[in-house]
Amino acid sequence: MHFRHKKHTALFVAFMIVLSAGCGDQGGKTPENVPTPTAAVTNEPTATPTATNTPTVTPIPTATSTPTPTVSPTPTERPKIELLPKGMVPEFPCTGYVACHDLTLRNTEDPKEKMMTLYNGDKVTVTGNSKQSKSFYSCIYEGQEYLINKTYVSFDKPFEYDYNDSFKIVDINDLDYSYKDMESDIFELAEAYPDLFSYYSAGQTADNRELYICTLGNPDAPKCIYYTGTAHAREYCCTHLLMMMAEYYLRYYEEGYYKDVYYGDLLDQVCVVMMPMQNPDGVEIAISGPSAINNLALRSKIQSMYEREDAAFYKYYGMHNSNYYKRWKANAEGLDINRNYPFGWEQTNESSRPSSSGYKGEEPLSAPEVKAQIEVLYKLMEEKDLVFAVSYHATGNDLSWDVGQTGEFRDECIRAVDELVFVTSYERNMNEMKLDNEVPLAGYTDWLNGEEIVPSVTIEIFPLSVYLAVNKPEMYEAWLANREVFAVLAELYYERKD
Ligand SMILES: [Zn+2]
Repeated sequence: MHFRHKKHTALFVAFMIVLSAGCGDQGGKTPENVPTPTAAVTNEPTATPTATNTPTVTPIPTATSTPTPTVSPTPTERPKIELLPKGMVPEFPCTGYVACHDLTLRNTEDPKEKMMTLYNGDKVTVTGNSKQSKSFYSCIYEGQEYLINKTYVSFDKPFEYDYNDSFKIVDINDLDYSYKDMESDIFELAEAYPDLFSYYSAGQTADNRELYICTLGNPDAPKCIYYTGTAHAREYCCTHLLMMMAEYYLRYYEEGYYKDVYYGDLLDQVCVVMMPMQNPDGVEIAISGPSAINNLALRSKIQSMYEREDAAFYKYYGMHNSNYYKRWKANAEGLDINRNYPFGWEQTNESSRPSSSGYKGEEPLSAPEVKAQIEVLYKLMEEKDLVFAVSYHATGNDLSWDVGQTGEFRDECIRAVDELVFVTSYERNMNEMKLDNEVPLAGYTDWLNGEEIVPSVTIEIFPLSVYLAVNKPEMYEAWLANREVFAVLAELYYERKD
């Protein structure tokens, strides 16, 4: 339908000089940005994704392709979803579904021994409670007997969809997902789903790109959740993911469900507002280099940053930094958008001048990308009940949220993070930060949580081992882990009518 030819850049990471693999947004880490994977707090599931290049879960292909999606205005005629009441277990033996990203099947004789990994939606036959341990069911998968962790087995049938046939507008194979790609997808989604998807620009960047804000679901919903993607340039996989999520929820608005509520009913009460790309100038630098910047003064500023930082690199490694622009994090002014918020701003000091990453700016909230975001945030707080905020970054496959917030505000963060850990299988980043001897990083969710403005979480997609967050198997893994996130968080704030 909207088939576009895209260049697919082969990734040649000939050498992996890990200067800063992760995004380094977790408060309390060292300012050097060195990736230090935190220990898993949850016991299950910790299986690492398989090393194959193809996605492990292949959704069942359907022969028919659906015609142009239209909005059906008859929500009352939807069939009732027949699901078990929460916590109910049917009579054994019965079918159970993996209800998290990945889950390890274990040896029936010894639960410590990992046998194999299943993925979200995979089916097993649950035969009963395990005699070995209270935490496990006995189950059968492909004729073999295993133990499976009770927490992550659901007896409700998950919503089935066809991954390869679900996206007509957003190109799932376009890993160099640029500003222009996003912009044309926003326009096309708004045209295809005029009642459920709208956009406006919250401002312009230094190089005159728009900071788009999209609303998904009922624009008059009393509550909303605000998502931001790609504050850090090279993490543009986050924009790609958010746009995929947008099309997926629009496409399955009427038929898709989470737990026993249709997506449409969830987003009717709790709509999604998102800024899918907070740093479009930076994204263009990361994808195409400084020539993508139109303003010549900015371009030469960027080139002088390169010359200075590459000279230091050469001195240290004896070679030029061929990935300098690909690993760009800042905006076109060399300001790190996620170091420009007031919480911890005084203390944070990764770079004393404009740089590809870590420069916090002359004063807090000075970057146009940050100003625009704050305006959106306060507007949402005024017009609606802004219940939660999410910031997507890469990498780490973890969730960070703890900057020492207290009381009910803290409980609200934990409630959402618990659900997200369950559905994504990402690790909980537990810094237990002590503000007197560790430095918060002046990031967006550091500020939202630290000053208790809106409960929030930073979700880091892609494993830490990925040098550039652009890779097909990892993108698919990120999709599987995050597909339900809009629904999961909306469901937390959804009020049942019965
Ligand atoms: Zn980041």
